[in-house]
Amino acid sequence: MLDKAPNGKVSDLLNALDKALSAGEVEHAVELFQADCYWRDLVIFTWNIKTMEGKEQVRDMLKARLADTKPSNWKIADGEDASEADGITESWIQFETEVARGFGHMRLKDGRIWTLLTTMSELKGHEEPLGFDRPMGAKHGAERNRKTWKEEREAEAAELGYSRQPYCVIVGGGQGGIALAARLRQLDVPTIIIEKNERPGDSWRKRYKSLCLHDPVWYDHLPYLPFPRNWPVFSPKDKIGDWLEMYTMVMELNYWGSTECKKASYDEKNREWTVVVERDGKEIVLKPKQLVLATGMSAKPSMPKFEGMDTFKGDQHHSSQHPGPDKYKNKKAVVIGSNNSAHDICAALWEAGTDVTMVQRSTTHIVRSDSLMELGLASLYSEQAVQTGMTTAKADLIFASLPYKILHEFQIPVYNAIRERDADFYKRLEKAGFLLDYGDDDSGLFMKYLRRGSGYYIDVGASELIANGSIKLKSGVDVKNLTEHSVILSDGTELPADLVVYATGYGSMNGWAADLISREVANKVGKVWGLGSNTTKDPGPWEGEQRNMWKPTQQEALWFHGGNLHQSRHYSQFLSLQLKARMEGIPTPVYGLQKVHHLG
Ligand SMILES: Cc1cc2nc3c(=O)[nH]c(=O)nc-3n(C[C@H](O)[C@H](O)[C@H](O)COP(=O)(O)OP(=O)(O)OC[C@H]3O[C@@H](n4cnc5c(N)ncnc54)[C@H](O)[C@@H]3O)c2cc1C
Repeated sequence: MLDKAPNGKVSDLLNALDKALSAGEVEHAVELFQADCYWRDLVIFTWNIKTMEGKEQVRDMLKARLADTKPSNWKIADGEDASEADGITESWIQFETEVARGFGHMRLKDGRIWTLLTTMSELKGHEEPLGFDRPMGAKHGAERNRKTWKEEREAEAAELGYSRQPYCVIVGGGQGGIALAARLRQLDVPTIIIEKNERPGDSWRKRYKSLCLHDPVWYDHLPYLPFPRNWPVFSPKDKIGDWLEMYTMVMELNYWGSTECKKASYDEKNREWTVVVERDGKEIVLKPKQLVLATGMSAKPSMPKFEGMDTFKGDQHHSSQHPGPDKYKNKKAVVIGSNNSAHDICAALWEAGTDVTMVQRSTTHIVRSDSLMELGLASLYSEQAVQTGMTTAKADLIFASLPYKILHEFQIPVYNAIRERDADFYKRLEKAGFLLDYGDDDSGLFMKYLRRGSGYYIDVGASELIANGSIKLKSGVDVKNLTEHSVILSDGTELPADLVVYATGYGSMNGWAADLISREVANKVGKVWGLGSNTTKDPGPWEGEQRNMWKPTQQEALWFHGGNLHQSRHYSQFLSLQLKARMEGIPTPVYGLQKVHHLG
């Protein structure tokens, strides 16, 4: 039999899928999938973020969702060609449903679907005003008492939240809240961001002074407005703060700075939130239909409790409160913890002339920034990728197309290659006593991030200082207690200290629901983040997707948004479409709402 070109193979498959789905023939559609298939759906079929694993789950989803999604017009995406390598045929695809247009990605193995990604691009009749449909801005013609753009913006700011209620309130105005609000603005969903800091960007500005983003610029763009081509690879924290402030302004977001959300409760009968905020010393009650907590994965400090902390005479604070090294020249500092913040803070203290010791309790994954960029990210997020035509949107979708269940299989070889390349570096670190790991299954940084959001350092220089002894290290020990002037470790070592920094990480976003709403609601929605991989700090059972992020939760009208810049950019699209559909009264039956297996 003649071997068909990739486009032909994909078109044949899509035609068969189109035919089976249009005829409601679920079994015929399922036959087009491999036994070990994955169908990841971002909202368009499931009104959820959900991966169907294996034919059984694909069948179940189609039986539940085919009748009212009514998918059609499956084809290779306009302007794209399928490609083939190593026995896998892959292609960008497009299709539509009754209410939305979809875009996706497909991989075929032996002529059947191995991975399928389906995503919602836009709701029919509610498209963003882009390109040919962009707003006019000027109103040509003559009109008495016309208002300027500025007057209209001022009027909106004066009435929204006072005489007119927003449809959506986002608590937290870091990059997560800002990116989501930008999308909601384009979808014409009245939204207010509540932020206790004064200015957009302050959540970055207030972090320790040496901080630069750990991820490179290609990974960090915000929706609609990419960084310019001369933007630094690793943005300094105050610069990213300024960008967020500028972005908030030009994207015309209703941003209530210096405003704290005090509490929120949901009226199940009226299907409405009561959100109490304090703005300029005055209490204001907002009544949105939807509440998004974008309060940050790295914003609820986990502060340990050690005996003697109350008697310690020096400075002590969580890493999130660390002011930087200037005050501590020629002093002695002990930094508890061995992840990103601990390393950055130790290095900056050493640079300032502080005698600094890091206390490492358990193993940490270290990956050199260069190696991560070249071996881990380059194919999707790098200047080379840009040069070869990779766009941010495509990179995000390719990344999203790799099912979480098998993502570690793609990651393990990358980290094996990094271990080989940097063998000498790792050897020197171990010689200095540093306890290393590469993830429970050697799958490295990214899986650790997705599973537990902690446990690593992207090395930008501190590791060398540890290897050569400039930063002192005590590993495999815990803190026993503090005295007036020292930290006593579990092996009996006494470390004299003028400063103790607790770089001990952050608590789950679930804690925000408990603080702002109630423990009952926090327990109802359960743990936020993690995949259920049954690895350290990510208990099973397997969930298949990040718990509670960007998708419906067990609490109606309560959503969690956030993550790194890449995730905030990408998933804000799907959360904004879920909110818009609800505002427009489009039915949004959620398929496979996640069950709760773990509390906070
Ligand atoms: C040291 C460090 C380095 C990092 N480096 C990177 C990196 O390189 N790249 C990356 O992508 N991510 C990085 N992160 C992760 C980083 O936290 C997130 O990317 C980013 O800050 C998350 O944005 P966010 O909007 O979800 O949360 P945040 O930026 O934490 O914003 C949450 C906001 O909610 C506000 N808030 C909380 N409660 C209330 C309330 N009750 N009322 C009003 N406002 C409230 C807070 O004031 C805060 O501004 C780093 C984090 C840390 C700690």
